[in-house]
Amino acid sequence: MSFRREAHVPKGGPDGGDGGRGGNVVIVADGSVSSLIDYRFKHHFKAQRGTHGKGSKMHGANGEDLLLRVPVGTLVRAYDETTKEVGETIADLVRDGDAVVVAQGGVGGRGNTHFVTPTRRAPAFAELGEPAHEGWIELEMKLMADAALVGVPSAGKSSLIARMSAAKPKIADYPFTTLVPTVGVVRTDEYDYVIADVPGLIEGAHEGKGLGHEFLRHVERTALIVHVVDMTGGYEGRDPVEDYRIINRELELYAEEFAHRPRIVVANKMDMPGSEEHLARLQEAVCQDSLAAAEGDEFAESPVNPQVFVTSAVTGAGVDALAAAIGAKVLELREASREAQAEQPHYDHVWERKRQDQERRFKVVKLSEGVFRVEGTNVERMVVQTDWENEEAIAFLQHRLKRLGVERELEAAGACDGDEIRIVGRAFEFESSQTHEDIYAGLDI
Ligand code: GDP
Ligand code: MG
Repeated sequence: MSFRREAHVPKGGPDGGDGGRGGNVVIVADGSVSSLIDYRFKHHFKAQRGTHGKGSKMHGANGEDLLLRVPVGTLVRAYDETTKEVGETIADLVRDGDAVVVAQGGVGGRGNTHFVTPTRRAPAFAELGEPAHEGWIELEMKLMADAALVGVPSAGKSSLIARMSAAKPKIADYPFTTLVPTVGVVRTDEYDYVIADVPGLIEGAHEGKGLGHEFLRHVERTALIVHVVDMTGGYEGRDPVEDYRIINRELELYAEEFAHRPRIVVANKMDMPGSEEHLARLQEAVCQDSLAAAEGDEFAESPVNPQVFVTSAVTGAGVDALAAAIGAKVLELREASREAQAEQPHYDHVWERKRQDQERRFKVVKLSEGVFRVEGTNVERMVVQTDWENEEAIAFLQHRLKRLGVERELEAAGACDGDEIRIVGRAFEFESSQTHEDIYAGLDI
């Protein structure tokens, strides 16, 4: 609140500038960030506050936004701190640069110049700044790959990725070495896609055995599954066809939808002696799966490609043909998902609208005879923004509450003149009058 002061002018008109708005807290997907480790132990983040408005109609400075950088593929969801429950999806940041505002900076309070009316030429009050928005969110990083390689340990997944892409993954001759998914980018003139493996997938993985469970959730958003079978019989001298069935079962037990996920089967280590004799059996098993998956609709394309791709990650035989087949399928699936996405609403806007609606809502609770409480985000915010030392500011608040329909609701709930109304720790006397209407009439606030 401020009035103009000039030499020889004892009291000029109101000239209090508005407060600056607070900065937003923004989550941004950044291709150069590879993990959420920065948020593992530090949980509280705050954007800069705005500065106060000043006389001579000087606007306060806006607070700077706080940008929290996360890996591409981070899912942002609402989180309820008291129940520890994960709520609605706020945004799925799937592209580099995707961003969502998770906490909006409070609007600066308006200076007294805003409250001039024909009958009130020198308003001696200003609005306090809007309290900051705050809340909890949950961040989950999901791998962004176009295709995921699954298979028993040592089937040759990492070796195949190394062969197909520029990635140089760690390759070992014993199980469980690859503790993090190997990610590679396959780049040719025709295709450009990301391929990742799911390490440690063994029998019982769906219920948390081995490390498969931890990695299976990455497959959730991968459109194409590439199943690599070790044709020498895998580790511990297992049967390739049995291995193939075990992995399929694990996938389905983890999530039923995996059964409908497009799949390509690869027979790897075909350079090894004895591998040929297993191939025909594997081929037959894959054909059966392909038919079973398409069952019920003879014209539908089966999600399981009946063609088994024969490779050797060691000699490189068949690897280019496999990379090309994956590339062609990935392009086809991307096109389909683009079409599906075009029909879907944008998460952040949906969430934003819902939040605004929710904040506008309020309810009247009758606490006892003659005592009522009004609850609601916006209503409470207005009360907090009011300068209680100032009668005019209080009168203005009453006007705003009336406009929101609070007075009407109170009357409907049975409030009479003289009753006590409580809003966030403040108590008012109910007065169903028109007193302040004339003062603020002409003001659109
Ligand atoms: P992953 O656990 O599925 O990632 O398997 P790796 O790629 O780490 O491979 C496990 C072992 O199998 C390594 O010793 C590889 O050299 C070997 N290997 C992978 N592919 C082939 C192949 O096509 N032929 C042969 N002979 N060995 C392979
Ligand atoms: Mg590996």
